[in-house]
Amino acid sequence: MPNNDPVPENVIGMSLEELQQKLLQMGEPGYRARQIMHWLYKKRALSFGEMTDLPQALRRRLEEEMAVRLPEIRKVALSQDGTRKYLLALDGDPEQSSEHTIEAVAIPEGKRLTVCLSSQVGCAIGCPFCATGQEGFLRHLLTAEIVGQMLVIQQEFAEPITNVVMMGMGEPLANYRNVMKALRLMNHADGMALGARRLTISTAGLAPGIRQLAGEDLQLNLAVSLHAPNDELRNRLVPVNRRYPLKQLLAACREYIEKTRRRITFQYILLRGVNDSVKYAHQLGQLLSDLLCHVNLIPVNPTGQNGGYLRPAEEDTGTFARILLQYGVKTTIRRERGTDIRAACGQLKQGSKESSGPSYCRISTFQASEGMDD
Ligand code: SAH
Ligand code: SF4
Repeated sequence: MPNNDPVPENVIGMSLEELQQKLLQMGEPGYRARQIMHWLYKKRALSFGEMTDLPQALRRRLEEEMAVRLPEIRKVALSQDGTRKYLLALDGDPEQSSEHTIEAVAIPEGKRLTVCLSSQVGCAIGCPFCATGQEGFLRHLLTAEIVGQMLVIQQEFAEPITNVVMMGMGEPLANYRNVMKALRLMNHADGMALGARRLTISTAGLAPGIRQLAGEDLQLNLAVSLHAPNDELRNRLVPVNRRYPLKQLLAACREYIEKTRRRITFQYILLRGVNDSVKYAHQLGQLLSDLLCHVNLIPVNPTGQNGGYLRPAEEDTGTFARILLQYGVKTTIRRERGTDIRAACGQLKQGSKESSGPSYCRISTFQASEGMDD
């Protein structure tokens, strides 16, 4: 017999206000919401039963009417450099029948613990060098699933997570509402209480989303995946450029910088023989010379599916960087981590279809190295 009981509401992902409202509806005082959030986000509780400063009767009611549901760790791959990649199963969206998996990555580095989270299952943008892009789009993640990635990873480490980058699978600005709600919970004093400057969104360049972000009262870091200095090349490498060509994208970036007074990081994957020539370095330098920005050069990571794409020789990467510096554009070369477990940028994909070794995953690590404010 099918079970028609309603699925209890997940407390993860609820804002303080929503939780207060829920408690009031239950005839309970609203101040309990703060206590519950404290348990979930600061004391790492995984059930209402653990929340010992709540009256026992309330704990029982909460267990009946609500749930603490997190993604489930299916696999962990540990890199030699300490990076850990998680394959997570989503219990998910009650409207979805089949189970989806996503990947998230943890990068410990000194006092920092950065997590790279996914925003969608798959991605609709389809950049040819990116493993996620090759899978197509399956669905958006719920707020609970975005925050949940962080909470399950936090359970694995004694030290607290210090930085979050939305650079896993998917395009965060295409799932704007859920991503922003998740980031607000991470930032909230009663949530994870992470400073906004420790939170980074990476976008393929959805101009309207960038404008919207400029109007938010949350001073996040913004990273824009540029990858090409002209429309012809960018149409191929980041196909959403056809919808928001460079002129429109850079106008949105300018507006963002003017409104927020914040520096943007432009990410530029170097693909040998495709976008790494001296000519393109000059074009990029000219394009960005008067912008408050920083360029992060990323030698492409192999994904197994991006056949044709190779890293440039080290000296060519150096030459590219030096040309940008001539234009006064601050530039760094990203140091990759986790490549031995395919946890590096563009290498993340749904794990269920593994064919050759541990090939699920994608992350970026640059937050852990340079280019972002502390
Ligand atoms: N969709 C967003 C965020 C996720 S991708 C975006 O594109 O920005 C995070 C970063 O990884 C992007 O800069 C993306 O271009 C980069 N990336 C994708 N595939 C890569 C690969 N094979 N090697 C190196 N970086 C890659
Ligand atoms: Fe999507 Fe980003 Fe991959 Fe492009 S690089 S396909 S936008 S996840």
